Amino acid sequence: MSRSVLVTGGNRGIGLAIAQAFAEAGDKVAVTSRSGEVPEALAKYDVLAVRCDITDAAQVDAAFTEIEQKHGAVEVLVANAGITNDTLLLRMSEEDFTSVVDTNLTGTFRVVKRASKLMMRAKKGRMVLISSVVGLSGSPGQANYAASKAGLVGFARSLARELGPRNITVNVVAPGFVDTDMTAVLSDERRAEIVSGVPLGRYAAPAEVASTVRFLSSDEAAYITGAVIPVDGGLGMGH
Ligand code: NDP
Repeated sequence: MSRSVLVTGGNRGIGLAIAQAFAEAGDKVAVTSRSGEVPEALAKYDVLAVRCDITDAAQVDAAFTEIEQKHGAVEVLVANAGITNDTLLLRMSEEDFTSVVDTNLTGTFRVVKRASKLMMRAKKGRMVLISSVVGLSGSPGQANYAASKAGLVGFARSLARELGPRNITVNVVAPGFVDTDMTAVLSDERRAEIVSGVPLGRYAAPAEVASTVRFLSSDEAAYITGAVIPVDGGLGMGH
């Protein structure tokens, strides 16, 4: 059955792979980004691209209204949009901290809150929040990012309890290092260092995160909620 799926930050990287996976399966997919452009890789699908900066509640509301008009109420929400702004604590300004939290954590709150309204009315829904292995293990130079990603876990688990009685599942996917623009900025030296700590000895492909997100949104995963699923090649084991 074709569902209305929204992937925030679905224009590139992990979000793009997630959007492709749902589109390939025949769902009605909407992707948001700050530009609102249709990514080339999605041109062959009938994907709706919507401009939406998740730091702005009015833009979030307008994007949902457009998606609801064109695809119907969002039944699967993938809160994927996120940023990094790495620096060591003593150099980290308050703006460095709050801007990352405002996008990764409060931005997710904005889209989840807006999506939950109609999901609660429909008494069904799936939400998948994209966190990170570093939200659980920590990472030097990423205190802002790790705090925002750890926050998603408490947020999701609270919602899993709150929305479970309405047949809405809320899960977290915690990727390790994935080949995207976000990690392309890392030096070869840092990349080699990271890979040496990954039992599977490599970065993930975005599609490997996408398949887990799709599983959590499927009928087969109907009894999974409040879970944090690592897709990290074993990097975070024990966290
Ligand atoms: P990219 O940098 O490749 O893409 C980030 C996406 O987020 C873009 O689509 C971007 O849209 C969107 N975005 C950022 N800020 C905003 C905003 N204010 N409003 C709307 N959209 C926004 O990142 P990845 O694909 O690598 O990461 C996707 C998610 O996965 C992120 O949450 C990230 O933290 C997480 N993750 C990534 C890992 C990795 O190794 N790559 C590992 C673990 C987690 P735009 O094009 O408009 O900028």
